[in-house]
Amino acid sequence: MERINKIQILQKELPDLELLADSRSLQIYGQDWTRFRQPDPLAVVFPRSVDQVQALVKFARLEKLALVPSGGRTGLSGGAVAASCELVVSFEKMRKISEFNPLEASLKVEAGVVTQALQAYAAEQGLFYPISFAAEGSAQIGGNIATNAGGIRVLRYGLTRDWVEGLTVVTGAGEVLELNRGLIKNASGYDLRHLFIGSEGTLGFIVAATIRLAQPPPPQTVMLLALESMPAVMSLFHSAKVYLKLSAFEFFSEQALNYVCQHRQLPQPLENPAPFYVLCEFDSDEEAALAVFEQGFADGNLLDGVISQSSAQAEELWQYREGISESITQFTPYKNDLSVRVSKVPEFMQELDQLVAESYPDFEVIWFGHIGDGNLHMNVLKPETMEVGEFERSCLLVNHAVYQLVEKYAGSVSAEHGIGLLKRNALRFCRSQAEINILRQVKRVFDPDNIMNPGKLLNDE
Ligand SMILES: Cc1cc2nc3c(=O)[nH]c(=O)nc-3n(C[C@H](O)[C@H](O)[C@H](O)COP(=O)(O)OP(=O)(O)OC[C@H]3O[C@@H](n4cnc5c(N)ncnc54)[C@H](O)[C@@H]3O)c2cc1C
Repeated sequence: MERINKIQILQKELPDLELLADSRSLQIYGQDWTRFRQPDPLAVVFPRSVDQVQALVKFARLEKLALVPSGGRTGLSGGAVAASCELVVSFEKMRKISEFNPLEASLKVEAGVVTQALQAYAAEQGLFYPISFAAEGSAQIGGNIATNAGGIRVLRYGLTRDWVEGLTVVTGAGEVLELNRGLIKNASGYDLRHLFIGSEGTLGFIVAATIRLAQPPPPQTVMLLALESMPAVMSLFHSAKVYLKLSAFEFFSEQALNYVCQHRQLPQPLENPAPFYVLCEFDSDEEAALAVFEQGFADGNLLDGVISQSSAQAEELWQYREGISESITQFTPYKNDLSVRVSKVPEFMQELDQLVAESYPDFEVIWFGHIGDGNLHMNVLKPETMEVGEFERSCLLVNHAVYQLVEKYAGSVSAEHGIGLLKRNALRFCRSQAEINILRQVKRVFDPDNIMNPGKLLNDE
């Protein structure tokens, strides 16, 4: 009854704001890619303008209504999940691309623009938007900025943060702020834009952004290589960095490859199976590629490999890496998105591997990741017969030791997926108490009534 009242008041106060509250829409818009919480939002609304977003925030402050910003819902940490009667705010109706400026190679996008649409628009202008990852066909630029998305080409192009030159935000206090206004240079004090990047919807709404575009890269070649061990992967990374102009250096385990082959019905890429694979992309240079091969064989690291001979072949090879997440989704994976400094990866991996072998003996663990950035995705698969809650509890127990290891190596419990709902108890393993206290104070400044994505990133006090 109280729910119906709230919706009626909302519709009365904001009659132009499109709203859905049927059970199917609530299921769809109340969750992201994670499946650890049952969605239970109040309703979902679809603003079409900054004014509507601002009016909604003012209303929510008065009514003490919790708001969950929602992008493409491809998040992997529960940041866009609404499980406690929150109002979901979808940016699906804000998808304009405008103000393309050829001199600056910049443009303006509304928050709901899909990442792939931005890439396509850039290509039409003869330019390049370099942030790329397997969910780019659904993820939105607002969600990418809110999570500071990384992806497969961070090695060369950096993170989403590096391409944002301006932001329009509506804070949790209801103020509209124009942050950095497209400037390259701006030494006029604290750069609030960067506070909003990676804020996971906890400070306010990102409604539009000015994005810088890159020059398109020269033709790229892709190599898929088979290796015996993780130290061999890191040693190969070293020689690849010496000989090649790398755009991507990704790794995955034999089990990860097998799931992709099964799921996408692809043939094995190489004749014999190997424990680990590397997929790297670089500016085409046959001589340099051969030098990496020769060095790899000479060091005894490399077992086998294949080099793309065309862009179509390069795309085919990418499928073996890009298909991993979707191929294991059916097993409700418990995802760890860990990072350490690149130079510490071999040592960290060795200890982590041992810990996992001792602590997760009954669960299947799938490894892959952006190893060139020191980022490992460790996915624990749920046994078919195990109930989701029990599975999560078992993983949390073991994960305590995993996080302690991350802490020992001064790493991060979330390299690129965000903290969201699922990793908030782990924040203390990579942020000091003093830092967490400051994060809380920052949140209070922008969101005094705690209406913006409450309980995400930071635990409620
Ligand atoms: C198959 C697959 C592969 C992936 N690979 C990668 C990868 O390689 N690298 C990577 O970084 N991520 C990856 N991800 C994770 C995910 O795609 C990214 O985190 C992406 O940036 C989320 O965008 P979204 O629009 O789907 O956001 P959502 O999931 O909808 O939301 C994510 C967070 O942002 C907030 N948010 C959304 N829109 C706004 C807004 N307008 N204003 C304020 N807050 C907002 C939400 O409240 C939530 O906290 C992958 C996901 C999948 C499913």
